[in-house]
Parts: sequence; C-alpha cells; structure tokens
Amino acid sequence: MNTPNKWEQRWHPLREEWVIIAAHRQDRPWHGETIGGAENPAAAVPEYVRDCYFCPGNPRVSGARNENYRGIYVFDNDHPCVGSSAPERLERPGGIFKNNPASGIARVVCYSPRHNVTLAELDTSEIMSLIEAWQEQYAELGSRPEVKHVLVFENKGEVVGVSNPHPHCQIYATNFVFKTIETEAQACRRYHSETGHILFQDILRSERQDGRRIIYENSSAVAFVPYFARYAYECYVAPKETHAGLGSLSKAELQDFADALKILLVRYDNLWRTPFPYVMSLHHAPTRQLDDSFHFHIEFHPPLRKPRLLKYLAGPEIGGGNFLSDTLPEEKATELQNVSNVHYKLEK
Ligand SMILES: [Zn+2]
Ligand SMILES: [Zn+2]
Repeated sequence: MNTPNKWEQRWHPLREEWVIIAAHRQDRPWHGETIGGAENPAAAVPEYVRDCYFCPGNPRVSGARNENYRGIYVFDNDHPCVGSSAPERLERPGGIFKNNPASGIARVVCYSPRHNVTLAELDTSEIMSLIEAWQEQYAELGSRPEVKHVLVFENKGEVVGVSNPHPHCQIYATNFVFKTIETEAQACRRYHSETGHILFQDILRSERQDGRRIIYENSSAVAFVPYFARYAYECYVAPKETHAGLGSLSKAELQDFADALKILLVRYDNLWRTPFPYVMSLHHAPTRQLDDSFHFHIEFHPPLRKPRLLKYLAGPEIGGGNFLSDTLPEEKATELQNVSNVHYKLEK
C-alpha cells in the first residue's frame, strides 16, 4: 500500500464535489479561543498585540515579516489549504477513486492594522478600500489560467473557529469551482434559459414586493433576510443591477454597497450588543464561465440563533443535506430592523 497523500483534492463521486485534504496543516498556530471559552466583549483587547501574526511589523510563522501597513494588507497564507507548494505528483488512488493536486493560491487580507476592531467598526471609507482590495484580488487571481474560482470569505468569532481575532478575511483561488457557487450558477443559467429572466433579479423583486425581510435599501444596493433563509439572521447584500462580480460595479454602486454592508454589520453587532459571529462569503460567478445570468452578492451565515446558542447541524442538515430552521425569517428580519444603525460601542 502507498502512503496516502497528506495534501491533495479527493473527488467525492456521490456528491460530485472535491474534498480538500490538508492534513499537513494540523500543527498550525492557534490564537482563537478553544471551544467552550467564553467570548467576553468587555475584555479590553489592545490595538497592537506583540505575538499576533497579523499585526503590523510582526514576524509570521513562515519567517516573513509583515510590513508596517496602515490600511489593507494582503499576503500569501502561511498555512495554505491550496497553494503552489501542494504536491503536483500524486500517488494515484486505487479503484474508481480520483485525486487532483490542491494547487491554487490562498491569501489573507487584513482589514486594518488595529488588532481590536471588526469589520462592523470600520468606517464606510475603510470598507470601500476593502471592497477595492477584493476587486483587485479577484481581477489578478481570476485572470490566471489555472484558476477557476476565487472564494473570498471571512470567518468571524470563536464559534466558527477563527484562529486569530485580528480582523481579516481569506481568499482561496482554486482549480475547481466551489460546490455552492456551481449549484447557484447552474440554477441561474437554467432559470435564464427557461424564463429569459435573471433569477436573482426575480428574487430581489419578490423581496421588495413583500418588504418584510428587507433590512436596508438605498438607490443601488439592498440587504435582506431571504425568504428561504436556512440560518437564523441569514442575510444577503446585493447590488440591484446584475453584475457577475464586484469588478464591474461603478464607484457610486460601490459606495451604496459599502453603506449597505456597514449598516447590516452594525445591526448584527447591536442585536445582542456583542461582536456578532458569522461566516461571510462573496458569491462571484466562476472565473471561467462568466455569463450574464449570475448576480454577484454577499451571503452571511450566522452560527448562533440566540446569544451563545449554536444552531447545531445534525440529522437533517448533515445526514440529509436539507435544513431544518428553528426560526422564522420574518421574525429574525424584524429583530434586525428594530436595532439602531449606530454601533453600540459608539453610543453615549
Ligand atoms: Zn493583530
Ligand atoms: Zn449565493
């Protein structure tokens, strides 16, 4: 028997999707709380932390040293899940199984040199700079011939396993399209060919007609809890015009989009007057299949349904693959509508 590859992609023939095996990462540094630790919003966290791998000027595990950055800072992930150092020559698995190199690019985007802020606390101009950094990264990574998809995401909060609380998101530029995006892109294409309509436009129209789940709206962007939300407080933020990705938004649309993002994030934090945990993911069209039917949006999936009460994924979700939601999207939307647009930390 061959020694199994510790770092590769394995094809799941029943789900028709890639599984990234990154068992080489087991010993990566861990700055986050371990499970069971209490998130204490009152604890004073300093602006600079000497042993943080992401704070300006500090050395990282790779030996590289961070610049003394002042705004957004982007660097290659020292513990990549996909990367140029992933083994190219793989032992072939037996039987019907197939594998693929976990090649690609993994990056980290620090939102701010300040260790103790969150995306919700950045001002709109800082959020604009972040969106511009996302645009640049998407354009650069997406233009590489080996890249089929660029996934930008932020895990926020100890309950979603954040390994370092310094405000940051991650980018995985991969040689495959992530399953959720593939499913969405297929649904959008099919809907378009059957009806001539853009699916996401029809979702937006239906949401705005109903109105009960809209959290915020301005002239070109909207934030809402979707009718079909799977998680409590699940929210989408989208431009009103259809764009396959962030790259084609005008300056005015970007400003509106940043405003919508900021207001949703502040409301999330105000809900329980605590930094609100979530998984945020940018849903861009796959880079090799730019078609007119995909509508860029950001999705927020919060893991908690009440303070400190986790929505456990169990039989229906893990065993069956469909969600059982214990909450009513309309009620969760009302809660988000009823909190202030001013961050609780800024209240007098
Ligand atoms: Zn830091
Ligand atoms: Zn989506």
